[in-house]
Amino acid sequence: MNEKAAVRESLSRVKEYIPGKDIEYVKKRYGLDRVVKLASNENLYGASPKAIDAFKDFKDLHLYPPPQPEELIERISKYTGVEESKIVIGSGIDGILEGIFNIFLEKGDSVSISPPTFPYYITLATIHDAKIERLERDESFNIKVSNSPKSKITLICSPNNPTGNLERGETVREIVEESQGIIFIDEAYVEFSSSDLLEFTEYENVILARTFSKAFGLANLRIGYAIMPEWVKKEYLKVTTPFPVSTPAIKAACAALDDLEYMKSTVERIKRDRERVFKELLNFGAEVYPSEANFLFMRVTPSFCDEMMKRGVIVRDCSSFVGCRKGDVRVSIGRTADNEYFLEKAKEILGQDR
Ligand SMILES: *Cc1c(COP(=O)(O)O)cnc(C)c1O
Repeated sequence: MNEKAAVRESLSRVKEYIPGKDIEYVKKRYGLDRVVKLASNENLYGASPKAIDAFKDFKDLHLYPPPQPEELIERISKYTGVEESKIVIGSGIDGILEGIFNIFLEKGDSVSISPPTFPYYITLATIHDAKIERLERDESFNIKVSNSPKSKITLICSPNNPTGNLERGETVREIVEESQGIIFIDEAYVEFSSSDLLEFTEYENVILARTFSKAFGLANLRIGYAIMPEWVKKEYLKVTTPFPVSTPAIKAACAALDDLEYMKSTVERIKRDRERVFKELLNFGAEVYPSEANFLFMRVTPSFCDEMMKRGVIVRDCSSFVGCRKGDVRVSIGRTADNEYFLEKAKEILGQDR
C-alpha cells in the first residue's frame, strides 16, 4: 500500500490551517523594533495573576489529570448557573467540537453552517465527509432562516467570528425548535457581549460551548467547557480522549473563576477601546461593523493587511474565509497602547483611500 492510499479520501478536500505571521518574523522581515499582533483575539492583558500562580505551583507533572475535574465543574456551575450534571470539560471549544462531530456524524450526513464564520467548522465537517448546508446571512450578518435546517448538526456562533454580531434570540429559537438535529452554540466571546444564549441549554438538542481562551486569557492552556443535555454527555464521555486537559490548565481555570474581578476589569477596558476604535475607523471612512466581541470586522482595501504588516501591525486577513471577500479584515482589540498603535497606522493607509 502506498502512502496516498492510506490517507482518508475526505482529507484531499481539507485545507491546512495557515496561522498568521508571528511577531518575530515580521520584525526581521521589515526591520522593525515594535510589532503588535492583533490577529488571534487573545486577551493581551493576560490571565489573572492568580491563575498564573496556580499554574506555576503545580509540580506533579508525572501524574495523569482527572478526566472530568469536579473542582472546576463546580465553579463553572456557579459561574453559569447551570447544574453540574450538564457540564463537560474539554481541550478548548475545538476539542469539544471534535467530540460532538464524532458522536453524531456519519458519512454523508449534513451540517448547517452560516458563512462567514469560524473556519474550523468547515474543516471538521469536511474531515467527517459531511455535506455542508449553507444558512445565509443578511447584510448585518444575521442568520436568515427561510427553511429550518434538516442537518444532524447546526452551528451557531454568537458573537460570530469574524463578523462580531450576536445572533438574534428569535432566530435561534426558531432553529432550535424546528430542527431535527443538534444545535451547537459557540459562545467563545460571550464575556464581551451584552447578552447570551444560555436559556437554550434547557432544550434537549442544544449544546452550548465556551472557553477560557479569550476573555480569561488562557488560550495557551487549551481548556474550555460545554453545557449539554445529560443524554449527550453520556455519549461524549465515550468519545473524548481519556485525559483531555492537564491539571495545570484545570488549576489555572479554577483560579481564574475565583478571580472574576480581574477578567471583568480587562473586559471592560477592551469593550471601551472597541467602541473607540470603531468610531475612529468610521471617521477614517472604513466600512466597519458594530461588534459584541473583542475584535472588529471591516471591509477595506485589499492591500490593507500587507500595508499594516509593513508598519508593524499584524491583523487577520479574512479573504480566505468562506463567505468573505478580498479586503475583509478582522482586528483584535488589544491593550490600549496596542490599539492606539493600530489606529495610528490604519489612519495612514485608510486616509490615502479618500
Ligand atoms: C477562538 C475560537 C474558538 C476556539 O476556542 P478554544 O477554546 O481555544 O479551542 C472556538 N470558536 C470560536 C468562534 C473562536 O473564535
